[in-house]
Amino acid sequence: ILSFKEVWVEYGDKVVLERVSLDIAEGEFVSVIGPSGAGKSTFLRLVLGQEGPSRGEVLLDGTPLTPECSPDRGVVFQRYSVFPHLTAIKNVMFGMECAGSPLFAKLFGAARKSARDEAAAMLEAVGLGHAMDVYPAQMSGGMQQRLAIAQALVKRPRVLLLDEPFGALDPGIRLDMHELVTALWKNHGLTIVMVTHDIHEAFKLGTRVLAFDKRRHDPHAPNRYGATAVYDVKLDRKTKEAG
Ligand code: ATP
Ligand code: MG
Repeated sequence: ILSFKEVWVEYGDKVVLERVSLDIAEGEFVSVIGPSGAGKSTFLRLVLGQEGPSRGEVLLDGTPLTPECSPDRGVVFQRYSVFPHLTAIKNVMFGMECAGSPLFAKLFGAARKSARDEAAAMLEAVGLGHAMDVYPAQMSGGMQQRLAIAQALVKRPRVLLLDEPFGALDPGIRLDMHELVTALWKNHGLTIVMVTHDIHEAFKLGTRVLAFDKRRHDPHAPNRYGATAVYDVKLDRKTKEAG
């Protein structure tokens, strides 16, 4: 579903990603780990289309990604993914507001009720059915992340991007979130790319783990430093069924 072809990202003299080539198949759950500054969030921004590669190509189903709001991709950050001044249901409805989304029209006019129903169903799916009219400020960190996930998924994206989604949560709450994300991944047939600093979480949830390293070791030219080292571990034993 996603394809990185000899992708470079440079800021002035600074090379962040160097010749990264890899493919992500539909239905994979890819964990991305690596030290701070290794380019993990940059990698996600490329998939969001918020940033274009300096060289190379990032393709979604063979088509270069564009910065437009896309119904194909949803994203959740560690914090600040939701709007504090909107109730839970309004936050989720706002998630539909994407020009390319077939749900966009439903925000207005006669279809508004069905938009509300869809948002309510999504809140149920993330376990917030009881909190439709609650504001984020009145929610725990775990509830806020559940809301952020509902907002990201309501436009039915095929790819869900998570940037340290549980980094600010207590360990016990994290376990609940692991269950939720695994269930959503299976039930919605999602492709997930999740950045995390928690290596245990990376291996527990992922079907594949990409470890970004700032050492630029080129496997094709061992004596030359010319590519971001991406250690790519495919956990073949793990399938959606075995989970
Ligand atoms: P962290 O674990 O701290 O979130 P990361 O792996 O997500 O780190 P990135 O945010 O992808 O790292 O950043 C990679 C490098 O690119 C960093 O050194 C950062 O300073 C640099 N960088 C990111 N965006 C820009 C920008 N717009 N201009 C210049 N440098 C940038
Ligand atoms: Mg980051």
